[in-house]
Amino acid sequence: MATVALNNLTKQYGNGAITAVKDLSLDIADGEFLVLVGPSGCGKSTALRMIAGLEEITGGEVSIAGNVVNDVHARDRDIAMVFQNYALYPHMSVFDNMAFALQIAKLPTAQIEQKVNEVAAILQLEPYLKRRPGQLSGGQRQRVAMGRAIVRQPAVFLMDEPLSNLDAKLRVQMRSEIARIQDRLGVTTIYVTHDQVEAMTMGDRVALLKDGMLQQVDTPSNIYDRP
Ligand code: ADP
Ligand code: ADP
Repeated sequence: MATVALNNLTKQYGNGAITAVKDLSLDIADGEFLVLVGPSGCGKSTALRMIAGLEEITGGEVSIAGNVVNDVHARDRDIAMVFQNYALYPHMSVFDNMAFALQIAKLPTAQIEQKVNEVAAILQLEPYLKRRPGQLSGGQRQRVAMGRAIVRQPAVFLMDEPLSNLDAKLRVQMRSEIARIQDRLGVTTIYVTHDQVEAMTMGDRVALLKDGMLQQVDTPSNIYDRP
């Protein structure tokens, strides 16, 4: 777990022709679930990718647990990210998909099994551990993608429109599912969406982005209950 602090975070493309994110300052508390919401093109993904270390920062700072990480490589940031196009390894079982990163990290087998089983229980994936991704429903695949990310116990969890490829019914189901899982794990989470209903129902707080600039940060009820 960790706090995340954005300090005048800025991203320009094309030598300043496009300012995708402008002076974004935001403190995310330890264990908080923050939803970053706004219309397509407002800079949400760019901001998230800068936090993850997948996009070069052109101005300002990202701090994790009090340390500026601008120059820290993505793999050393203690962050896990889930995208909308969660590419699972098709030829591996659900168990192996989730275990893979831990095997790469050379954890002892018993410890890998314990961690994967623990996460599988939280995500209610226990009955499916031996299946391949192709034998799962969309919602189950999405849960495996989340499991693969959280099994490493990152300090910060980033999600970029993770539900946008699911049908409407599943989306509603997964909303409460993700909120429940986040609550259980208590991991600091930044969740990007263009969907106001997701923002309203999922986050502890909502940060509203428009044209790369922060408009408002508040609890969902304070943001959406105003006439
Ligand atoms: P969102 O995630 O809110 O849809 P993005 O962060 O993807 O917004 O994009 C923000 C703005 O930056 C948009 O105007 C987009 O066209 C622009 N942009 C994003 N990536 C690039 C890039 N690699 N090169 C140039 N412009 C980009
Ligand atoms: P989303 O809206 O789902 O965040 P986009 O479709 O805007 O994603 O962007 C997908 C990819 O295309 C990203 O890697 C982004 O950097 C790149 N991109 C987006 N807009 C532009 C742009 N105007 N010029 C070049 N690359 C872009």
